[in-house]
Amino acid sequence: MSTNLDNLTAERPTFVTHLECSATGERQEADRIANLSRAGKPLLVRYDLPAIRNSLSKADLARRPPDIWRYREFLPVRKAADIVSLGEVMTPLVPLKNSALGPGEVLVKDESRLPTGSFKARGVALAISMMRAFGVTEAAMPTNGNAGAALAAYCSRAGIKTTIFCPEDTPDINVREIQAQGANVYLVNGLIDECGKLVGQGREVRGWFDVSTLKEPYRIEGKKTMGLELAEQLGWEVPDAIFYPTGGGTGLIGMWKAFEELEAVGFIGSKRPRMVAVQASGCAPMVKAFDAGEEHAARWQNASTIAMGIRVPQAIGDFLILRAVRESNGYAIAVDDDDIVDARDNVARKDGLLMCPEGAATYAAYRKSLREGRIAPGDRVVLFNCASGLKYDLPPAIKKLDLRQPIDFKRL
Ligand SMILES: *Cc1c(COP(=O)(O)O)cnc(C)c1O
Repeated sequence: MSTNLDNLTAERPTFVTHLECSATGERQEADRIANLSRAGKPLLVRYDLPAIRNSLSKADLARRPPDIWRYREFLPVRKAADIVSLGEVMTPLVPLKNSALGPGEVLVKDESRLPTGSFKARGVALAISMMRAFGVTEAAMPTNGNAGAALAAYCSRAGIKTTIFCPEDTPDINVREIQAQGANVYLVNGLIDECGKLVGQGREVRGWFDVSTLKEPYRIEGKKTMGLELAEQLGWEVPDAIFYPTGGGTGLIGMWKAFEELEAVGFIGSKRPRMVAVQASGCAPMVKAFDAGEEHAARWQNASTIAMGIRVPQAIGDFLILRAVRESNGYAIAVDDDDIVDARDNVARKDGLLMCPEGAATYAAYRKSLREGRIAPGDRVVLFNCASGLKYDLPPAIKKLDLRQPIDFKRL
């Protein structure tokens, strides 16, 4: 069977032209290992979009196998041999039925089906493929769980050594998963940005490559495939709104970039979904900055929420998140942990879809938005279930039967 990977040959260049500083626009060469720009801001990969327009049609795409590599013209990997893949499948859009809240279609993009059970696989697959191309041998990252799990898996597969720092209350299953997949993992008595500082310090001594969110340019390119995929799955129509659980914001920024690139190649028009950044009330720096009309977000003190993936007190891409939200006529919204738990239980019981807390937060935010009139009941919305609900604590199941006693089936 032919795969998307077979079609990337050593001779065929990609369409990457350069890297660009997301704050100053300064350009730098693409084919060299890179972290932040000279100004200390995230770097974005830029492509020759007119050339993509001339060489790729929607029909070409439609014939390719259903994984992220089908979008290779929009991706930075130059040689198939560098690709590190664990099977990054296109994820389904599952419509809510019994837990839908109005006449509008509510689609859950179920990212739990990706390798290592979360959408972190998209970004990490790209970052590690590029690291392999550049000959990186050691990597490090701070994580609240899922990014580290993906990093461990892809690095082990690529033969890259990896050191990972987690806040000490990271769900045990994530930490064990990271260790089982071959990484050197440490629990740290601090939050994710403090773990990030350790990576920065260790990097000086050990020469690790820093794979932190937005501190290298390629994870965002992998996350961008969510936007490409969504548009293609909806027949090159974008939805009215996207509810995205926002931590570091890679996915939100990446999708926004995807829509811009898709318009430039003529695959979609100028309509954009409203980008809704969903956060937890216990850690909502973007919501606070959005409401205050600010361009940057101050560090959130005493961050606390059960939705670990969005417990990010400070994000280096804050201005990119806020810009995308504002340009899309979207907004940032916070939901309480109680509402997150209620949302998860509700969707699981009524629709058989066990969302992770971060995914459930998007449902809670959608419900709150409808109530507050921020979303029209007829809008077609996409919620992101970004990880498997099985990676998190669930309420205990305690009912027992004793086989030595007669069983009263009428009462079961
Ligand atoms: C990382 C993560 C997020 C946040 O994604 P960003 O794109 O970094 O904002 C949300 N939910 C889960 C489960 C995550 O692992």
